Amino acid sequence: LSDRLQGAVQTMGKKGKITEGDLKEMMREVRLALLEADVNFKVVKDFVKRVNERALNSEVLQSLSPAQQVVKIVNDELTDLMGGEHVDIQYATTPPTVIMMAGLQGAGKTTTVGKLANFLKKNDHKKPLLVAGDIYRPAAINQLQTLGQQLDIPVFTLGDQVSPVEIAKQAVEHAKLQGYDLVFIDTAGRLQIDERLMTELKDIKVAVQPNEILLTVDSMTGQEAANVAKAFDEELDVTGVVLTKLDGDTRGGAALSIVSVTGKPIKFTGTGEKLTEIERFYPDRMSNRILGMGDMLTLIEKAQAEFDENEAEAMAAKMRENTYDFNDFIKQMDQMNNMGPLKDIIKLIPGMSKLGNLDQLNIDPKQMAHTKAIIQSMTPYERENPDSINQSRRRRIANGSASTVQEVNRLIKQFNESRKMMSAMTNGNMGALQNMMGG
Ligand code: GDP
Ligand code: MG
Repeated sequence: LSDRLQGAVQTMGKKGKITEGDLKEMMREVRLALLEADVNFKVVKDFVKRVNERALNSEVLQSLSPAQQVVKIVNDELTDLMGGEHVDIQYATTPPTVIMMAGLQGAGKTTTVGKLANFLKKNDHKKPLLVAGDIYRPAAINQLQTLGQQLDIPVFTLGDQVSPVEIAKQAVEHAKLQGYDLVFIDTAGRLQIDERLMTELKDIKVAVQPNEILLTVDSMTGQEAANVAKAFDEELDVTGVVLTKLDGDTRGGAALSIVSVTGKPIKFTGTGEKLTEIERFYPDRMSNRILGMGDMLTLIEKAQAEFDENEAEAMAAKMRENTYDFNDFIKQMDQMNNMGPLKDIIKLIPGMSKLGNLDQLNIDPKQMAHTKAIIQSMTPYERENPDSINQSRRRRIANGSASTVQEVNRLIKQFNESRKMMSAMTNGNMGALQNMMGG
C-alpha cells in the first residue's frame, strides 16, 4: 500500500500549481493503491469521492501550496477512515475491569491477552489476572499458563471440565476477592464463525457483563478480516478491535476497511510475535506511516515504555553535565535490545524508510556480547572516564577481552557517536540526529 501511495504523494508534493488533470492522476493512484491493499471496494469508492470533493474545492487549487493541501486532505481522510482518534480501554468505575476476547482460531487472542495485560500492567500500573477460557483446543490452557509465567502474571484456570461460562464467573469473583483490577478472559475460537461459538461467547457476555469485548482480527486476511469483524460485531456488539500481525501485513488493507465496516475502533495493534510487540492504535500516526511521513510519536512512546522515566531524567541530566559514560552505554544497549529490532525503530523516523536496506541494521546478539566483554574489561575508572582511555589502556582492554585494538577503537568511536547522538536528542535537536544518521 505504502509504496504506491508514497509515490503519488511525492510526485504531488513536488509540484507547485496543480491542474485538475494532476489531481485526477493522483486520485487514480490512490484508488489503485487502496484496491491493491485489499481495501473493501465501497470503502475505496467513498474515500476517493470525499477526497475529490474537498480537493476540487477551488480554494484548494488556487491556494499557494495546492499540492501540499491535497496531500493533507488525503492524510486527514485516511485518518478519519481509521477512526479519527485513538480510543482507549474503558476502565470500570469500580474494579475489576473485565475484558473478554473474541475472534477466530489463530487470530492471536491468547497472545494478545498476554501482550495487553503486560502492556497495561507496565503503562497503566494495573494488576491483571488472565483467565483460561478456551477449554477445547488441547494445550490452550498450557499456552496461557506459559505466557503468565513469562510475564509474571497469574492465570486462573479450572481445567477443561468446567464450562467457560462458569470459569468466567468464578474468575471475576476470584479477582474481586483478591484485588485484581483487570481480568482478561481468553476464549476459544473456531476456524469459521459458527453458532456454537457465538452462543458460548454470548453466554459469557451475559454472565460477566464485560466492560470490553475485544475482537481480535488477523490483519493478514485482508478483506476477509473486515467481513469476520462485521459478523462478530453483529452478534456480540464488541467494544473494540485488536488488529494482529500488522508486522506481516504488507498491504495494510484491513486497518482501512475495518472501522468503516464495523464502526468500532481499533484500539491496539499486534506488530510481532514478541510479547512486547503491541501498540496503541493512533489513526493519524498510522496514516502518516502509510503515507511515508514517519511516526515519531510511536517511536518516542516505545522508548518511554522501556526507559523508566526517572532513569531517562537521570540520563538526560548526565548528558547535560557531560558525564555520560560506558556504564550508561551498556545500560542503553540492553534497553535498545528490549525495544525490538533496530530496523523497526528506524522505520518510524520520518524519511528513514528511504534509507534503503534496513535489514543490515539488525543488532547481532553475538556482536553485542562481544561489545559487552570489551566494556567489562575496562576498569571502573575507565568506564566512568571514557576520555581517559589512551593507547596503552586500549591495548590492555583488548588483551583482557580477547579482541583486537581495532575492535576497541571501533567501540570507543561508536560510544563517542552515541554520546553525540544522545546529546542531540536531549537538546531536542532531531535534525542533527537525522543528519548524523545520514538522513
Ligand atoms: P488464538 O488462537 O486466537 O488464541 O491465537 P494465538 O494467540 O494462539 O496466536 C496464533 C499465532 O499467531 C501464534 O503463533 C502467535 O505467535 C501469532 N501471532 C499473534 N499475534 C501476532 C502478531 O501481532 N504478529 C505476528 N507476527 N504473529 C502473531
Ligand atoms: Mg487461543
